This record gives sequence, C-alpha cells and structure tokens, in this order.
Amino acid sequence: MRMSENTTSTPAAADALPRFEDFGLAAPVLQALADQGYQHPTPIQAQAIPVVLQGRDVMGAAQTGTGKTAGFSLPIIQQLLAHANTSASPARHPVRALILTPTRELADQVADNVKAYSRHTPLRATVVFGGVDMAPQTAALRAGVEILIATPGRLLDHVQQKVLNLSQTEIFVMDEADRMLDMGFLPDLQRIINLLPKQRQNLMFSATFSPEIKKLANSFLKDPVLIEVARSNATAERVTQIVYKVDEEAKRDAVVHLLRQREIKQVIVFSNTKIGASRLARELERAGVKASAIHGDKSQNERMAALEAFKAGGIDVLVATDVAARGLDIAELPCVINYDLPYNAEDYVHRIGRTGRAGASGDALSLYSDKDARLLADIEKLIKQKLTPVALEGLEGRAVRERGDRGDRSERRGERADRGDRDRGERSPRSSAPLPRREKTDPWFLKPYEPSVPAEPKPEPEARIGKVAPKRAALLGGGPKG
Ligand code: AMP
Repeated sequence: MRMSENTTSTPAAADALPRFEDFGLAAPVLQALADQGYQHPTPIQAQAIPVVLQGRDVMGAAQTGTGKTAGFSLPIIQQLLAHANTSASPARHPVRALILTPTRELADQVADNVKAYSRHTPLRATVVFGGVDMAPQTAALRAGVEILIATPGRLLDHVQQKVLNLSQTEIFVMDEADRMLDMGFLPDLQRIINLLPKQRQNLMFSATFSPEIKKLANSFLKDPVLIEVARSNATAERVTQIVYKVDEEAKRDAVVHLLRQREIKQVIVFSNTKIGASRLARELERAGVKASAIHGDKSQNERMAALEAFKAGGIDVLVATDVAARGLDIAELPCVINYDLPYNAEDYVHRIGRTGRAGASGDALSLYSDKDARLLADIEKLIKQKLTPVALEGLEGRAVRERGDRGDRSERRGERADRGDRDRGERSPRSSAPLPRREKTDPWFLKPYEPSVPAEPKPEPEARIGKVAPKRAALLGGGPKG
C-alpha cells in the first residue's frame, strides 16, 4: 500500500521535496524504491535516513503509517551493502542487523518491506515470530541471514536452541518500543541486548514517550539524535473525533447503525477484550455485516487470513484488540470505531492513528457509556482536547438487546480467559486501570480454544500473505469446530 502523494506537500511544491537520490543510496536500493512507486521520502525518512547513514543512534517519535520502516531499513540496507555477498556459506551471512517488533503482524510487515527494499541486493532477510512452526525459521537462520526481524520471545527461543548467534550484530532496531514495554517484554529485551556486541548502532522508535520509554532509551542509546515527525502523543490532526453517548447494552446496535448510516466499508472496531472482539464479530455477522475478529487467541494463519480478507474487501469490519491491531499496515482507512474506550489513554492515540494516515482524512468514532467517564477523562488529558459525548442520531427506538444479569460466575470465568497471556501478545489492563466490564455468558466462549487451522509449518514468505485462503466461517467461530 502506498502513501498518497500529498504526504509531505502539494504537487506544486513537489520540486522542492527531498529525493531519495539525495541521500547517496546505491542503485539497487533506488531501483527497489522505484519498483515500489515511492517518489519522495516521507518526513521521517528525510530526517532519519541521513542520520542513520552517519552511524548515529536514533530515538524516533513516529507511528506506523509515517513510513518509518523505510526510514530505518533503507539506511540499514545501504550500510550492510559493504558486506553483501553471494557465497553459499552461512558463515558469510551472519546477522548484522536485528529488528525487534512487539507483534507478529508487525514483524511480518517489516520483513516484507525489508525484503522488497533489498530485493536487488544479495543481502538476506528473514523473520521469526511465535505461533508458527520453528523448523522453517531454524532452516533460514542456519543458512545465514544479514537482516533478522523478530519478536522477542521467539528470538530467545532460537537463541536457546543455539541456532542463532547475535555477536556480529552491528545495528539494533527496537520498533514500537512503547508497545514492547506495555506487553511486558522488558526482561526479554534486556536479555537480548546482553547478547549483542557493546559496539553497535541503536535505533529506537516509539509512537508515544512515557517516562519508562525515556528511561529505556537512556539505558541503551548513546547520544541519540531525536527525530520527531509529529508532536508526541498528538492525535492526527486530520482525524475527526466523535464520541457517541450510548447505553452499554446498545453498543452493538450502535455499531451496526453507524456502519449503515455512514455507509462505512472498511473499518477496524476496537474491543478491549478478546472475548468481546469475538462476540461482536459474531453478532455483526448475524446482523448481516461482513465482519471478522483478530486477536491473540487466533492462530497466526487465522489472523493473516482475516487481515488479507479485510484488505481485499472480503470483509468490511475487522474487530480487533489493541495488540492485534498494532502495526497493521492498512493505509487510508477511512474510519475506526472504539466499541470500548481503551483502558490506557495511549491506546486511543494508537487506535485513531489507524485512520487519517498518509495525509488522508479519517473519522474516529467512539462509543461512550456512563461507566467510561474516567477513561474519557484520561484520554482528554493525554490529547489535551475536550471530547464531549453527543447523542447518536437515529439510534433511539432501535431494538436494544435484552438487558439483565446472567450467569455471574461464568461471566467472570470468561473474562479471566480473556486476560493477558504475554506469549500471545495480549496483556491485561494495568492494575491501576478500572476493571474490564463484565461479559455476558455465551457458552461458545467458555469452550477451550481450538485452532481451526492446524499449526502447520510456515510456508515460504511469499506464500504467507495473499495465498492463505481466508477461512471466514472458521474465523468467526462458525466452522465445524467453532
Ligand atoms: P510504515 O509507517 O513504515 O508502516 O509505512 C506505511 C506505508 O507507507 C507502507 O505501506 C509503505 O509501503 C508506504 N511508504 C513508505 N515510504 C513511502 C514513500 N516514501 N512513498 C510512498 N509510500 C511510502
């Protein structure tokens, strides 16, 4: 997916824009950019590429959607060209750049980008993440690879299996560092950093800058250059934010109403819990909306299939938890809906960053009920903007789902099943945050999870996205096992 041309300026001013050629990138890299159809560097690229080429450490404040991946991978590829060779010997292809990401989806997307940008060079890139068979990853690592993209847990698994040696790493990238900390990866990060040579270049990217992030940056970046493309914690200026006041029980109807009223074709609806995401997707399907859930209890293949079906237009609504949605490369999304307001205000910034990207305008619609007052106040404080809840025109009088308290104990059980499992990349809300709302009982959710797609060896990279047949019935829990 490409960014729109007006990312940095109007067409009339195009001549004044920086050009990739200005950075002294080698011909094979420029060729790859031309293949991608990129004409000008984005602001983060214009700032980051020269600094990274100088070998400086970088602390980058940028969200996914700004072009930050190329911002760090192009100068990495350029620097590693000095080592590029076509030898078959694994020893000639040690890991020289390590890129860590918090989620599997982001790792996969970064790897796709790195592979595209390095395709005219002999440099090798591969990706390792959990949830899929280790064997093909092991084979790729054993064959030798210069650029490794990884999630922390699976990386350490490979280190433990002794298939991976990081002692020749020259460049270390930590992507979406804020999310890594949120997901509890700090101990893993420290273990990984200890495996790297002391002398190396460090690049750290984060959409938000909390005191914890600054502490992490201070601990391993050396005299970093700060690169900021937007005010930290600023919500995208082009995003229209609307908060609708609705009864908790009417939220499902409100989503359906908004989809129809606004004729929304492609939207991510955010749920705070995995159970909530699955249930909402099923309910939307019942209401005739093409929807699918994407969260950490789905197998990797299911998540990829859902994402691909969404991108291809096979489904209109992706119901996602924060972790599953992070880093998804879905540009120009016209709208996001917060079915639940997030427990952490920073997640609001990430969520609405899904829309209004690359210079396009977008809508961020949030459903607010009385119990959300504190969450909304936290968001307003963070974004320094007042968000006054308004009535949702036309919703009144629609059938509101039956209310009532059912099955208290199993509700809580269901909730627990939804809580954080770090390996799966989901996390429970911070202890200071209010408790999640209670789920209604639905026996379907109390069944143990059975992957509808058997864990199979990961196919060759090209086959992963795009060739996995979307299994919609299974994704929605409507398949034979669901
Ligand atoms: P990222 O923020 O790295 O996830 O990039 C967001 C999207 O912008 C990706 O689909 C990239 O392929 C695309 N992109 C990155 N750099 C450029 C560029 N200079 N011109 C056009 N599109 C770009």
